[in-house]
Amino acid sequence: MIRIHRANTADTATEHAAGVKPWIVERLDLARMFSVYVYRAARGLPQLGSAALCEAFASATYVSAGPARGIIDIFTSGAIWGKKATADGVQDALLSLVSGTGVTPKVKAPEARRLWSQIAWIQQRIDKVLVSLPADLWSIDQSLMKVCGGAFSAHAKALLMWLFDYDWWCTGASGIMWTAGLLAEKLDVRSCPYCNRQYTFSVVKKGTGDVIRPDFDHFCEKSVHPLLAMSFYNLVPSCTTCNSRLKHRTPFNVIDYLHPHLEGFDNDCVFQLGDSVAGADPLALIEKPETIPLSMCHNLPTTNPKRTRIENNLSEFQLEQFYQGHRDVVAELVLKHRIYTDAFVEGLRHQLPGAKLTDDVVSRILWGNYSQDDNLGKRPLSKLTRDIVRELKGDSIT
Ligand SMILES: [Zn+2]
Repeated sequence: MIRIHRANTADTATEHAAGVKPWIVERLDLARMFSVYVYRAARGLPQLGSAALCEAFASATYVSAGPARGIIDIFTSGAIWGKKATADGVQDALLSLVSGTGVTPKVKAPEARRLWSQIAWIQQRIDKVLVSLPADLWSIDQSLMKVCGGAFSAHAKALLMWLFDYDWWCTGASGIMWTAGLLAEKLDVRSCPYCNRQYTFSVVKKGTGDVIRPDFDHFCEKSVHPLLAMSFYNLVPSCTTCNSRLKHRTPFNVIDYLHPHLEGFDNDCVFQLGDSVAGADPLALIEKPETIPLSMCHNLPTTNPKRTRIENNLSEFQLEQFYQGHRDVVAELVLKHRIYTDAFVEGLRHQLPGAKLTDDVVSRILWGNYSQDDNLGKRPLSKLTRDIVRELKGDSIT
């Protein structure tokens, strides 16, 4: 588990919010108008401004036929749909809805009022929803849940999923300049923070301009916390194995799990070799890396809350088990440590006449990876390499 080290994360969060806000705000405005219509229909009250509602949908920049059908379905009986979700179909459905011809609202009046309150509450806090830090996001989500009576109703949940439609955003919705690919490019998280075993940087596909990017893990699962589906600090670039195979829908929070934007294992949990490696024949280890005793150790007292988070992350991502598969790398490190005498390293420093190699560059050449805390996220297996080399050299943890 590697903390995401970036100098300008807050700026990127602001940029992300500015990029996604236009289409989310548009949906909030339409949903607010729509909830009023449904409330009046459910109460049998005459509708006001029917034309304005239809016009608002017709002139929406981002809410095309598909998304429009989505919100109409949330509020009303699906029976209004006689044709596919085309722009004309949406207009027909809206007209029949606002004229009250044969349309049964699915949402009763009290629920329509609650949904209206929910929308208004979000409109006042949309910036906080999009850019707040992880612990604050959790509080915001809990506050909205209170507004909704302690739990999201099926309609409330469906509405939130429509408002913060992550899947629609990811599938390249037309007219959206700030895409998931662009966010991944800007973040440039080069290895999966959860496992540090896979590369996660993005590339632009030649010819199409599409960005081939890593997964975005929703730290707080979006099906349970749909309000946070588009929040910057809830989108963690990660490898598919960690996102879809391991973490998947496990309910994460910042109390029980490490959040990559806040903390990593750092020196509180390190890779460690068994004592038998010190006297072992390195060539024998190269031949049989499966004999190397490799573990992940932490020495935090039980009273330290980070200890629980570390243990939970180790377990959730099966890190100790996965890293047994990287013991061939460890065997090479043990062999290199035997080869790299002081004279060898000093000779290396003078291999490029006229160039002065820094300690960091020399270390990268020797061990094939980054070793400074801030750079561990740049390459897979960097923490494994750093910890094992430090143990082999007998360096103390600072
Ligand atoms: Zn991973």
